[in-house]
Amino acid sequence: MEYQLIRSRRKTLEISIKPGGILVVRAPLRFPKKQIEAFLLQKQSWILEKQKVMAEKPAPKEYSLEEINIMKQTALARILPRVEYYSNLMGAQYCGVNVTGAKKRWGSCSAKNSLNFSFLLAEKPLEFIDSVVIHELCHTFHHDHSPAFWQMVRHYDHHFPGKRPG
Ligand SMILES: [Zn+2]
Repeated sequence: MEYQLIRSRRKTLEISIKPGGILVVRAPLRFPKKQIEAFLLQKQSWILEKQKVMAEKPAPKEYSLEEINIMKQTALARILPRVEYYSNLMGAQYCGVNVTGAKKRWGSCSAKNSLNFSFLLAEKPLEFIDSVVIHELCHTFHHDHSPAFWQMVRHYDHHFPGKRPG
């Protein structure tokens, strides 16, 4: 039986099933592996049942800290030239570019016009990155999603006109 083992300063064994059907075992620091496996065998029918249910839920992709750091660098290297290009084209003033660990939004623009982008852009095509960059640069002119904002987005973005929320 395959499982993900997480050892910590705890006193008891605990098993859980994550989306995607991944079995997670939480165990005390020095708890013997043989006993863990005996425990899992005992609970096998419960595990299999639960895995069937959870297998239908998509597993959200997880990234290690190292992966996130590499992706941040990749994303920044891809995003910076596009910000440079479009800010010149648009005459936009911004005060810095950051790549963050954000997962729920592709980008944001602060009140002081500093631009933030998600590390997940490292894996997106350049056209997609362009549309995020344009969106955030338009926010340096319009700090809202007003019709004037979308008009500006449409003017510069020919790939995904107005489709991206954020
Ligand atoms: Zn926006």
